[in-house]
Amino acid sequence: MTPTRSAVRLSDGRELIYFDEAPGSGRSGYPDTRQLPPPPPASQLRHDPLTDEWVAIAAHRNTRTFLPPSDACPLCPTTERFASEIPAPSYDVVVFENQFPSFSDRIVPDELTQVTDMVPVRPGHGRCEVVCFTSDHDSAFGSLPPARVRTVIDALADRTAELSALPEVAQVFPFENRGVEIGVTLHHPHGQIYAYPTVTPKTAAYLRAAKRHFEKTGRNLYADVLAAEQEAKVRVVASNEHWTAYVPAAARWPFEVHLAPHRQVPDLPALTDAERDAFGPLYLDLLRRFDGLFGKPMPYISAWHQAVTGEGRELGYLHLQLFSIRRAADKLKFLAGSESAMGAFVNDIVPEAAAQRLRDI
Ligand SMILES: [Zn+2]
Repeated sequence: MTPTRSAVRLSDGRELIYFDEAPGSGRSGYPDTRQLPPPPPASQLRHDPLTDEWVAIAAHRNTRTFLPPSDACPLCPTTERFASEIPAPSYDVVVFENQFPSFSDRIVPDELTQVTDMVPVRPGHGRCEVVCFTSDHDSAFGSLPPARVRTVIDALADRTAELSALPEVAQVFPFENRGVEIGVTLHHPHGQIYAYPTVTPKTAAYLRAAKRHFEKTGRNLYADVLAAEQEAKVRVVASNEHWTAYVPAAARWPFEVHLAPHRQVPDLPALTDAERDAFGPLYLDLLRRFDGLFGKPMPYISAWHQAVTGEGRELGYLHLQLFSIRRAADKLKFLAGSESAMGAFVNDIVPEAAAQRLRDI
């Protein structure tokens, strides 16, 4: 069932949306009692002429909340003792604009600092939102019931559709960082959505490759990669009627899995009811396998790749990229010289072996 959506404004004007599994919860009736200062202006983007990539400069983010105690968690529901970001005393899934955004629509163009003639600057227009998956501070995405995963997918689809329609938005990216090893600053189970004003470097590279492939074959690049993996089987970890999970043949990370729908769709809003329902059980199974690898919670990044909103949209193919930096029980992979300076990854774990280990759990 589609969740009931109700939007409110926080005291500083930011938007907050409840996605309720049962109608009539009345959560929108709770006002934000805090007196928050106006949100900071957005970042600026500077163009790196050496790599033809945009870099967001967001100085105010250095003051954001860092690992607060659990009775002062900004993502828990508001209690009598502590007014959090969520005014209601309970919620299912809630989405709100980030208080410390990397991108927003609040920038005043005159505030843009010019740099040099070689480095064009533009406002960091866009949106950054926070998605709380559950009101239970001590839970984790992997512990959610499949029905809640469905609510999360519906919320992400809602946000993708709305943010994609903003004129300044080029690409919408929902993701979850999990674990302090990844740099998480709040333990409460949550994800984020970045609506970028530019196509990201990773997506730009995919679009170049996908365009070449289409011109040569008339087919979608991602669809052909998925079909080849399904046929090869050796890197497939799990699958169901609508989705297949596989380790990419040229995986960059010790443990990396792509989870893709069998039908080519540009983004989450384009998924059918049946596809949305089938996602949760398979993804939860994958997270269980990840946590089972070393017998402790795996730090991970879970990243939805969606089609861009403008040129090249038809080349997109929705998929989730799940990967971890943990390569052994007590070892993390750090991005060192080759990866950080050259963008050239060296992976110590053979993808076929990683797939086998994940299947065996
Ligand atoms: Zn919390």
